[in-house]
Amino acid sequence: MKVTLLGTGSPIPDPNRAGPSTLVQAGPLNLLFDCGRGVLMRLAAAGLFPGMLHHVILTHLHSDHTTDFNDLVTTRWAMSPVPNPLSVVGPPGTATYVDRVLAMLSDDIQYRLDHHGDLDWEPPVTVAEIHDGVALDESNVRVLAAPSDHRPVAPTTAFRIEHDGHAVVIAGDTVPCRGLDTLCAAADVYVQTVINTELVKMIPSARLQDIHDYHSSLEDAGRTAARAQVRTLVLTHPVPVPAPGTEADWIALAAAHFDGEIIFGTDLAVINVE
Ligand SMILES: [Zn+2]
Ligand SMILES: [Zn+2]
Repeated sequence: MKVTLLGTGSPIPDPNRAGPSTLVQAGPLNLLFDCGRGVLMRLAAAGLFPGMLHHVILTHLHSDHTTDFNDLVTTRWAMSPVPNPLSVVGPPGTATYVDRVLAMLSDDIQYRLDHHGDLDWEPPVTVAEIHDGVALDESNVRVLAAPSDHRPVAPTTAFRIEHDGHAVVIAGDTVPCRGLDTLCAAADVYVQTVINTELVKMIPSARLQDIHDYHSSLEDAGRTAARAQVRTLVLTHPVPVPAPGTEADWIALAAAHFDGEIIFGTDLAVINVE
């Protein structure tokens, strides 16, 4: 398996970090987890066009994780010479979300149908809602889902991808919880969105202080990694935007609780799982 961090940003605009999205290539499958800001630019940099994705899997419907989903739908459809249904997997609520995105796109869809003689189908999108259990099982790749805890945002889902005796966990936004522990057990790679608690506390914004109780801190991520005995912890979606040169400080806060490998994620970083 191969994990590519397409976007390692958060809602805060950052010239160096696209919005949250992660590509997991397992056997023949290209699996995209979340669709943050700039996902198709980063996907192109990783060598893939949107038509080459087999499944798009959403951890939750927060805007930073979904904001470029509409770009994916439109571009995959408009670039495809034949109907190429987009398979979307996500927590309950995903089907309604997809319907609303398609409604938002209806003007553009009609423009293109009217203009292009060889394009006579609307964007084909299929949706499977899953919160717990087997999300996918095909081509010797299994994707397991379990409830994460990002309340009051609910439901939210974390995923474990298994292939060839290896496992990768895409946690999404969550505090430590039983579902996450279950998925992480002895995983090779655990990708966790994180906040730096002390730095966030120093920011004089009441609204930003609301994020403490529904995100994993660096310490939380380290503790989850240690409890589950994962091999590699990957930190992504750091809040606030890290100052250049402070990466080691962020890693140290997680490393106080976990003695395995820790990677501070940057856009287009690749983690080979073998
Ligand atoms: Zn987020
Ligand atoms: Zn979120």
